[in-house]
Amino acid sequence: MDYLWSPWRYQYVANIHKNDHCVFCDEEVPSNDSDRLILFRGEYHFIILNRFPYTCGHLLVAPYQHIADIASLSSDQSLEMMTLIQRVTSALKHVYNPDGFNLGMNLGKCAGAGIDKHVHFHIVPRWCGDSNFVSVTGETRVLPETLETTYSKLKPFFEK
Ligand SMILES: [Zn+2]
Repeated sequence: MDYLWSPWRYQYVANIHKNDHCVFCDEEVPSNDSDRLILFRGEYHFIILNRFPYTCGHLLVAPYQHIADIASLSSDQSLEMMTLIQRVTSALKHVYNPDGFNLGMNLGKCAGAGIDKHVHFHIVPRWCGDSNFVSVTGETRVLPETLETTYSKLKPFFEK
């Protein structure tokens, strides 16, 4: 996968391959939520920007618990995950006015999970004719803003 513009990519890939530890559990990176691009912390889950966004505003909901199997989530945890997904779609509608969303999980490497040991739910805003056409056909993504900009636009929607 080539990126037209993604200055953060090399650092992230280097980190993944250098260390065995999980990026969702990683305690060695700065604990500051804005440095980690964490937008919100619920009781069981947090909302974080995907550092490999398919489109602008590609967010993830992940449990604090390091689990690979969604069947391990309790009913309360499952409810919170869906509630946070709803909250994410509302915030993204306000900020980016997408035409639609792709929502889902990749469970297991063969299903496309980049991090297969720690479940995480993808919320990807979509626009008619958006750059994912390029991504699918040309192995290239076009990202119009930095992750820090996305973070600062979305953060106010998760502050109460
Ligand atoms: Zn983990």
